[in-house]
Amino acid sequence: MNREGRGATTPHIVGGISAGPVTFTGNRGLDLEEGLIFEIGRTEVTGVDIAEPAPFKDRLGTHKRTAPLELPGLSEPEAMRHYVRLSRMNYGIDSGLFPLGSCTMKHNPRLNEKMARLAGFADIHPLQPLSTVTGALELMAELSRYLLELTGMKAVALTPKAGAHGELCGMMAIKAAHAARGEAQRNVVLVPESAHGTNPATAALIGYEVRSIPARADGTVDPEAVKAALGPEVAALMLTNPNTCGLFERDVVAIAEAVHQAGAYFYSDGANFNAILGKVRIADLGVDAMHINLHKTFSTPHGGGGPGAGPVVLSEALAPFAPVPALVATADGLVLVEDEGSAGAEQALGRMSAFHGQMGMFVRALSWMLSHGADGMRQASEDAVLSANYVRACLMDVMSAPFAERPAMHEALFDDAWLAGTGISTLDIAKALIDEGYHPMTVYFPLVVHGAMLIEPTESESKASLDLFLGALRDLAMAAKAGDKERFLGAPHYAPRRRLDETRAARAPVLRWVRPEPLPNAAE
Ligand SMILES: *Cc1c(COP(=O)(O)O)cnc(C)c1O
Repeated sequence: MNREGRGATTPHIVGGISAGPVTFTGNRGLDLEEGLIFEIGRTEVTGVDIAEPAPFKDRLGTHKRTAPLELPGLSEPEAMRHYVRLSRMNYGIDSGLFPLGSCTMKHNPRLNEKMARLAGFADIHPLQPLSTVTGALELMAELSRYLLELTGMKAVALTPKAGAHGELCGMMAIKAAHAARGEAQRNVVLVPESAHGTNPATAALIGYEVRSIPARADGTVDPEAVKAALGPEVAALMLTNPNTCGLFERDVVAIAEAVHQAGAYFYSDGANFNAILGKVRIADLGVDAMHINLHKTFSTPHGGGGPGAGPVVLSEALAPFAPVPALVATADGLVLVEDEGSAGAEQALGRMSAFHGQMGMFVRALSWMLSHGADGMRQASEDAVLSANYVRACLMDVMSAPFAERPAMHEALFDDAWLAGTGISTLDIAKALIDEGYHPMTVYFPLVVHGAMLIEPTESESKASLDLFLGALRDLAMAAKAGDKERFLGAPHYAPRRRLDETRAARAPVLRWVRPEPLPNAAE
């Protein structure tokens, strides 16, 4: 077992605290070390007792396996412990504050979970006859109604399964609309330089050339810069609002007008909708398409790769191009129009996913909406903005922030100017925060801010929990300024694994476990 990450040599001294001797097992207190299942399992063991099959003649021919399968086996209690121990190495919103900027990691209320587990929602199959799932269809219609009410838009496509997938859907609708107008030659999409990476990636994925728009010194987009970049070749502008610097784009209406005047469409990245929920109607800003991350704004579980949901709201101009299946109200009740080109979906852009979207997320999001009500949703966004500004105000004397002359929206952005001369970087601060028991904030994003640290506390944190987090961060900031490099450069000192080479892990991942040489050979 490779335990190198665990400080395997000498006891190390961290900020004056001894991290203690290395233990025989690699465990520390009740923080248990755990190997890969291949390392702890044995091929000769199984947790189930399978009867020998009756003699049979196989038809595999040359495909028949010649070497043993070598699947690791564990007894039932061993298997249980393996996965429980792994799960304890995970940090989630249920274990502590998760300040990851741009991600809106908020509490997932248990009521939502309870609703999602109702058999009528949890146990249905996408191929069931419509007459047996009318309640589920009604829930989808009700969720759609809420999303349209909150945004003022004309139509909503529920099927996209993440924010990025929603971007793809919205941009495909834009492409289809240009094609229908006979303007398929428009091949450029404008994206501000502060945009989330998924924006240019989406545009490029469907064949657009991406042109970057610089930000002003105050961190927002200048309508004049947009006007200068517009032309008959431009298909759309993609703008995040509030933007990734945590600022509301005040000139958004002028920008939208300029985009429309040039015959292009305005895509708004709605991942930061949490900051303006119940405060701003997106349609009033001139938006043509916007995705909504149910897993951010509407509290459905997030992280660990999903499952998310990224419904897209569309303007009148783009509504006819919404994908199938489309939920349509008829005299006979709700029906799902499944085929593009058929009545109700004559100009549909096609299909974004096999079935109807993430039902479980729809149930959770609607539960959140209904339990908050209109006033509660507005208060949630106000509290989220208040929390972010509290974080910013409490750290301004020890850290430095760009664009500080304006209040933040839902996230507090810091740069690394305050670390100049300390020999400590943004990454070191993030790693030291792990030792304090917090998931790090988002670092080095947005790219336009040097050494960025982006903190999004959301409305779910109490003042007491924010104060504890702020205390930890202030303590780290003062230690960094006092030159306590020990505490930072090797951090995290207390995590199951120390600092990893993340770039190498991403570029050259080792995806196959190879059985190590038997011990006698390895010893030579
Ligand atoms: C999260 C996010 C996205 C992408 O959403 P996913 O659901 O992760 O695909 C896009 N833009 C911004 C600004 C985001 O924060």
